[in-house]
Amino acid sequence: MHNVVIIGSGCAGLTAAIYAARANLKPLVVDGHEPGGQLTLTTMVENFPGFPDGILGPELIDRMRLQAQRFGTEFRTGAVTEVNLGRRPFRITAGKETYEAQALIVAAGASARMLGLESERKLMGHGLSTCATCDGFFFRGKEIAVVGGGDTAMEEAIFLTRFASRVHLIHRRKEFRATKIMLDRARSNEKIHFIAPAVVEDVLDASKASVESLKLRNPDSGELSTLPVEGVFVAIGHEPNTKAYRGQLDTDENGYLITHYGSKTNVEGVFAAGDVQDHHYRQAVTAAGSGCMAAMDAEKFLEAQGST
Ligand code: NAP
Repeated sequence: MHNVVIIGSGCAGLTAAIYAARANLKPLVVDGHEPGGQLTLTTMVENFPGFPDGILGPELIDRMRLQAQRFGTEFRTGAVTEVNLGRRPFRITAGKETYEAQALIVAAGASARMLGLESERKLMGHGLSTCATCDGFFFRGKEIAVVGGGDTAMEEAIFLTRFASRVHLIHRRKEFRATKIMLDRARSNEKIHFIAPAVVEDVLDASKASVESLKLRNPDSGELSTLPVEGVFVAIGHEPNTKAYRGQLDTDENGYLITHYGSKTNVEGVFAAGDVQDHHYRQAVTAAGSGCMAAMDAEKFLEAQGST
């Protein structure tokens, strides 16, 4: 039986662990399907306060993990497959293991949707990114591409024109899912060049660990072309990792957990932090902040229950 189980070991989960451990709650962190979260897929992080020269994403996560361990956090590997939140103690199943918890913090994150190309994973953090706010600064004066046809793609393309010399907006259909206002705004930006319909067949050159061009296919004519770019932002949406909680925790229409009064969910004693409940800010520092809130809310809850 654990006071607090934290699901997810990205920025939000690890910050929650640091706070819960320092409150003497002896938290247990269940790593999740992508240990360390999205920061482990990035290279240099230049906007996390306290690191004036920047820090590598995986190193930042390692340091948070050590900090959580230092105060007594326990870690278990495994992705959560099932939870029973009907009554306390809550039951959490990850593979063959089942854990019991008086309070639960869900910090399972969201995964960026990817195109499914082999080159994508290899080039992630080496010219390929899923976050313009995080990585736009690295593309000053460069010609880059944004893939996607929704509001995120428009927003990222517009933001990236602050840095890039030219932004090619690549979308697989002629029709756009983006709202008219965002689409018009992108269309009227003279630095943005629309290429649609076009399907990204490959990102080159994974063998050189840098982005040099995109191989595109026109789905109507089948015609292939090469677009030289030095960076590519995949902006085709995110999937919150909430499958195991559906039907028990309230979600919005896109599957993100709904929180209120800080980190509280609809189930008393269950709290949520980080990208699993935030499709708007999605930053390491905001995830860390909400992890802190969740740990403090869990501590207050346990205290009121007389469990600590
Ligand atoms: P989205 O609306 O689901 O759009 C995803 C886009 O990516 C679609 O155009 C889709 O193409 C494309 N796509 C999906 N899978 C693909 C694949 N495998 N290969 C190529 N293209 C693919 O996602 P989003 O843009 O992230 O927006 C999510 C929600 O947040 C929306 O409700 C949006 O309005 C909201 N949002 C609002 C703002 C704002 O108001 N400022 C900003 C960002 C997001 P198809 O159209 O062909 O399916």
